[in-house]
This record gives sequence, C-alpha cells and structure tokens, in this order.
Amino acid sequence: MAAMCAYVLVAEDEPRQAELIGRFLARENHSFLLVDDGRKALDEIRGRRPDLLVLDLMLPGVDGWDVCRAVRSEDADLPVLVISARAEADDKLLGFDLGADDYLAKPYDPRELMARVRALLRRSGTTGTPARRALRVGELELEPMRHEVRVAGRLVACTPAEFRILAVLAAEPGRVFSRAQLLEDAYGLDGFITERTIDVHVRNLRRKIEADPAAPAYLLTVYGIGYKISDGSGRGR
Ligand code: CA
Repeated sequence: MAAMCAYVLVAEDEPRQAELIGRFLARENHSFLLVDDGRKALDEIRGRRPDLLVLDLMLPGVDGWDVCRAVRSEDADLPVLVISARAEADDKLLGFDLGADDYLAKPYDPRELMARVRALLRRSGTTGTPARRALRVGELELEPMRHEVRVAGRLVACTPAEFRILAVLAAEPGRVFSRAQLLEDAYGLDGFITERTIDVHVRNLRRKIEADPAAPAYLLTVYGIGYKISDGSGRGR
C-alpha cells in the first residue's frame, strides 16, 4: 500500500523557514510548493487546489489574514495551518476567527509542525485511499479516477500499463522502486510480464512526459536498483 501523499502549499516569506518546512514535507513524501507572498498563495489555491495550506501571517503584499479570509470565502474545506512569530501570538484567536484550523507560534519544532500537518490531513480525509486521489509531483498530475496524466496542464495519453507504473511512482515521490517492486505493485503477480517490460514502459513514458527524454527530470533511473520519480526541480520551487 502506498503511503499518504498530499500536496501542501507553504506561504512563508523567510527562505530558511520555507526550505526547512519543505524538507520535512518531502521527508514524509508530500509534494509541496513554496510561495513567498500572499498573492502567489491565492493564485495557486485558485489554480491547483492544495490539500493543505501552511500560512505565515506576516507576508508581503497580501498578508496571511487576508489570504485566510479569501480562502474561507471561496473554499470552506481547505485545511489551513497558521504559523506566526511570538509577537503575533495575540492574534491566535483572530486566526481561528478567520477560519484557521490550527495555529503554531514561531519558533517551533519542525516535528511539531509535521504532527499538526498529519493531524489536519487525517481529519480532512486527504490521506485515505491514495489510488483514488489525484497525485501531483511538480508539474506532473495524475487523476486516477479518470486515468488522466497532465504535464504542466497538457494532457498526455498513456496506456493503462504506463499509467499504473507512473501512479505507483508518483504516490511516493523520491522513493526508489526496484523493477521487481514496480512489477508487483503495478501489475500484481502476473507471469507474462518481465522486468524488461518495465524498462520499455519507462522509456515510452519519458517520451511522453519529459521535455528531454534523454535527460529526464521526473522519471529518474537509480543505477543498479530501479526507478524513482522526482518533482522535476528537486527543490519544490
Ligand atoms: Ca513572515
């Protein structure tokens, strides 16, 4: 069974804080996007709805309060975890008034942040059945219910076999799968299919989803082991 994988939007204008949050999210196999102002956060929420918003209150441009207000007027279900400096801690109640689901004061322990993230995702049901949920890795999107693959919004036609392999990899970005594991997870134990078949499917997939199939950004070979999927940038930005 694939681990849970959510798409988390992080609005935080302090680069080191943002990178730290990203590192912890990646460690738990979540895909994420870091934005450094409220306007970008709102654009992203309206474009590709995240599963969770981690929101710093003091942001340049549109601040966290306005983002929270806008989110709540447009999308009642998006879980919002507000983080803010101690000096803003008095705004805790205001944060909840605005519809934040949880609140964490800076400085915080990233493990505490991740515990809150897990709790919020569990509560919102995001982490239920990964095979039926949309999967997102960088600009790559999979819609299992419709068997659709998109790269940067462009629809890519995949065969069912290719889709299954991609879905297994995309459910756990960064995890390395051996060919044998991919065979088992994507096909079950089917005697007709050999590990060489995986290589053929991967080659075809690269032609379809990679800008440069010879230098893939998503479907990476791990020499001597197998394959893994990457977010296309390696940094989540
Ligand atoms: Ca800030």
